[in-house]
Amino acid sequence: MIIRARYVLPMDQPPIEDGAVVVEGDSIVAVGKTSEIRAAHTGEVRDLGERVLAPGLINAHCHLDYTRLRGEVGWHGSFTAWILQLVAAKQLHPEKEFIGAIPRGLDMLARSGTTTVVNIESFPGLLDQVLPTKLRVWWCLELIDLNRADEAKSVVTGAQEFIAAHAITRGGFGVSPHAPYTVSGELYRLSAQYAQTRNIPLTTHVAESEEEDDMIRRGTGQMYDYFLRAGRDMSDCKRAGPVQLLSEYGVLGPGCLAVHANSLTPLDIALLKQTGTHVVHCPKTHQFFHRSMPFLQTMMEQGINVCLGTDSLASNDSLNMLDEMQQMAQVYPRLSAQELLEMTTVNAAKALNQAGKLGRIARGAWADLIAAPLEGMGGDPYESIVFANKTVSFSMVGGEVLFDEAK
Ligand SMILES: [Zn+2]
Repeated sequence: MIIRARYVLPMDQPPIEDGAVVVEGDSIVAVGKTSEIRAAHTGEVRDLGERVLAPGLINAHCHLDYTRLRGEVGWHGSFTAWILQLVAAKQLHPEKEFIGAIPRGLDMLARSGTTTVVNIESFPGLLDQVLPTKLRVWWCLELIDLNRADEAKSVVTGAQEFIAAHAITRGGFGVSPHAPYTVSGELYRLSAQYAQTRNIPLTTHVAESEEEDDMIRRGTGQMYDYFLRAGRDMSDCKRAGPVQLLSEYGVLGPGCLAVHANSLTPLDIALLKQTGTHVVHCPKTHQFFHRSMPFLQTMMEQGINVCLGTDSLASNDSLNMLDEMQQMAQVYPRLSAQELLEMTTVNAAKALNQAGKLGRIARGAWADLIAAPLEGMGGDPYESIVFANKTVSFSMVGGEVLFDEAK
């Protein structure tokens, strides 16, 4: 199949005007000017007209389960209270109620141009009922031991056994030790060893809130008081910051996606950079929590690989990566549309160790493609994707057309 569009955005070379892509099976076999492609290849041609063809977007942080909790958890100024509300809301619903949430969330992602998602999975038991998926999903199993290090081994063994018993056709598995306040050093160590041995991603929430920073770094504040009362072993508090703890546990590195990373010191930034850790920023969730982000620009300038995610509908009103890029454009007006699109394509592909397969339109990559109309006379093709109005008109994953409204 040959797909032709007014512009093709390969991402690793300049936009190709009047471009075409040859798809065979699940992969791209050629990309170039339509005239060159037509001269060298035969087959059905799908002409998308005055549209821009781009790699499918990658959402680097999502909780599809919580699509069920849309509008149920509000923000009242305390992160600790928000987390407790989330836990209570999860417990209100039987696990089977979350089954429908995953496909609903995936549908929202697909309509808005996401073709790959890094999903934190709290209910792996539901997977048998939702697999296989049309989108590419990295199912990162959520690991929590509430700092009971004696349980760490069984938590990791359980995840290993689950992963060994399942095959994913589009995407893969990863692990997600939840956050420094719910995960022991031992659980972090064991999950990092497992992820590194298997070469699968490890993703964790870290340095998300001031309350987490107060608890871990200073041994004070609302979160500290809550966990102390709940009987958590607090001996990991008051000696280092959350990012330093992850470094000590051997978690940071090129296989690690550190989510949020808001409360940082210069030392934390140096640790993230030295170790090649990827940072996932969730722009609209950030806004939901009224957070400041003094260091994102610094991290980008220092060459830390920054990707974007939606997080969940417990802290966002959409699962739409177009909205996230547009929010970034408002907060960081100096970022170009090309840089924003890189965050949701090539940067995220690199974080997943899939640079040759995802995030670009190139020979050998998977045929994960989206298209949106070229906006305006002489419109910028990158802006046409980044500022597309809520939805895209064409989506393909692994050579399979999910929808094509460009007809
Ligand atoms: Zn999250």
